[in-house]
Amino acid sequence: MLKIGSHVSFKKDTQLLGSLDEALSYGSTTFMFYTGAPQNTNRIPLSKDLTIKAWNKMKENNINIKDVIVHAPYIINLANSEENKYQFSINFLKQECKRCEELGIEKLVLHPGSHVGLGEELGLKNIINALNEILPTTKTNILLETMAGKGTELGKTLEQIKTIINGVKYLNIGICLDTCHLSDAGYDMSDFDAFLKKLEDMELLNKVKCIHINDSKNPLGAHKDRHENIGFGYLGFDALIKIIHHKKLENIPKILETPYVDEHAPYKLEIEMIKNKEFDKDLKEKVINEK
Ligand code: FE
Ligand code: FE
Ligand code: ZN
Repeated sequence: MLKIGSHVSFKKDTQLLGSLDEALSYGSTTFMFYTGAPQNTNRIPLSKDLTIKAWNKMKENNINIKDVIVHAPYIINLANSEENKYQFSINFLKQECKRCEELGIEKLVLHPGSHVGLGEELGLKNIINALNEILPTTKTNILLETMAGKGTELGKTLEQIKTIINGVKYLNIGICLDTCHLSDAGYDMSDFDAFLKKLEDMELLNKVKCIHINDSKNPLGAHKDRHENIGFGYLGFDALIKIIHHKKLENIPKILETPYVDEHAPYKLEIEMIKNKEFDKDLKEKVINEK
């Protein structure tokens, strides 16, 4: 079964159950959310009642909680060792891992961090040290996201990801590929088998546990990180379809983080298009005109 879904909201009153309902309304078989606003650290207490209701409804709908993803807030920066900020990031990420455990979620996607002028080497070292403090405190798997390389972002090359993974002493570490970011970082997604070969040669393919499926508003190597709807950007529909339906990636959950069209979620129609393997050039108009 194709494991496809999108980013969904997580609201105070409905929590995991509301996120699930939103995902089901798009015809998803998995989903991803932030456990609170991505840009701040205000976190509401989790309701066990809503969590259990969500688990039961997932069973009824054949969604495996193991395929559901949480995205860590982007204010966490493990690369910046500036005193207060570093410990803050570490502590907050530990808390997020705890929240994942409470929700029964095993996979947490993390932006590795930005070195903010400290340099690549020190930035990577800081990330490794932080992960070696966090990972033994949790069962949650932290998945390092491949980044577009804007500003001083780390994780823009597979070599940097490999360096981090090699430095980590624990097994609950993995990778989340992001097709927009990879293309923006200079990896050609139109020759995906060559890219997979590179992942295999670097012994990283078995670490991939999630894929963000996005088209890009910018050409190969642009380092911009602006997502586009599937088939409307520089990667194109055929390249993305090949990735989504690739045999070697069959069991990996795939998450759309494509932009809303005029404040309307495009995911229901994008997922239909993906299942049908047929590009609909009128998708954006249809999203706007839906109900
Ligand atoms: Fe991300
Ligand atoms: Fe992403
Ligand atoms: Zn992005």
